[in-house]
Amino acid sequence: MKRILITGGAGFIGSHLCERLLKEGNEVICLDNYFTGSKSNIVHLLENPYFELIRHDVTHPYFVEVDEIYNLACPASPVHYQYNSIKTIKTSVMGAINMLGLAKRIKARILQASTSEVYGDPLEHPQPESYWGNVNPIGVRSCYDEGKRCAESLFLNYHRQNNVDIKIVRIFNTYGPRMHPNDGRVVSNFIVQALKGESITIFGDGSQTRSFQYVDDLLEGMIRMMKSKKSFTGPVNLGNPNEFSMIQLANEIIDITGSKSTIKYLPLPEDDPSQRQPDISLAEKELNNWQPVIQLRKGLEKTVTYFDKLLTKEL
Ligand code: NAD
Ligand code: UDP
Repeated sequence: MKRILITGGAGFIGSHLCERLLKEGNEVICLDNYFTGSKSNIVHLLENPYFELIRHDVTHPYFVEVDEIYNLACPASPVHYQYNSIKTIKTSVMGAINMLGLAKRIKARILQASTSEVYGDPLEHPQPESYWGNVNPIGVRSCYDEGKRCAESLFLNYHRQNNVDIKIVRIFNTYGPRMHPNDGRVVSNFIVQALKGESITIFGDGSQTRSFQYVDDLLEGMIRMMKSKKSFTGPVNLGNPNEFSMIQLANEIIDITGSKSTIKYLPLPEDDPSQRQPDISLAEKELNNWQPVIQLRKGLEKTVTYFDKLLTKEL
């Protein structure tokens, strides 16, 4: 049994990770300031004696004895990370410094939840880990993109200078149950709009693409990465290589929900990447042939079921 700290553990991905690591027989400490996460995501775990919940902000140091740290604390939706952009930078950068300092002191292995956003609006397609990216360093998304890029740099520098045992995963658009209904990300927006019979809001002409990964596939990749050989630090891409345009996504969701919603076109936000698709050959090679197994239709159906229950107050 390992003792594992998960920062951002009350969020969408973090809550699934807490659940899965507990199921695998570990002791889990979930740390969160509830900025975008919520107690309702983890309330079902509170009776488990091997689960602990801590209200704490990662921009302040935190001391605890653990074997492993998953550093997920950071708002992930553009609406949320731009709400208080300075705080977003502090969370990524000071959060990384505080957690790396802790990992160094207690000799814990630490995994950073980085993002495909480090590639910005990519000029290379699909994106391999060797691609350095095309990020606007002063644009409205830079608080998130540059914060995460700085965190990656901190991780590698703590590794080179202090021999901290690090792992970096670059997560591509991930969806599933427990996304916040007002999260602002495209999958939750479209599903909630379709279920309520409201117009589906496509930003721009809807030709921009993303590659959507179901949360269970991501967890499998993250856990394999945490268990991988010490010399493999990453960064490694974790995403589903199947790429869809926003129009295709909207039509798929209308089809699954049987909704009468129509499509409404709104202006494209500033610096919105036009395409994104992971090259996952490194993950396949280093993480025991890891590959996503849940395809979009199946994952969307599970997510629609969740939001349907949430909206009809069955959850
Ligand atoms: P989320 O917003 O649901 O979860 C983030 C969690 O971090 C929330 O519970 C929030 O309250 C907490 N948090 C934020 N600031 C904090 C702070 N200062 N101190 C402590 N806790 C804080 O988002 P998510 O989708 O679950 O994302 C989790 C991680 O994965 C993030 O680091 C995100 O950047 C990364 N990621 C997610 C995606 C995706 O598609 N979901 C893609 C790439 C990377
Ligand atoms: N998007 C959209 N309608 C929405 C929300 C988002 O068309 O209601 C678009 C957005 O402009 C982007 C894509 O969907 O091109 C993915 O957006 P999201 O915020 O989910 O993730 P990210 O841009 O960070 O990949």
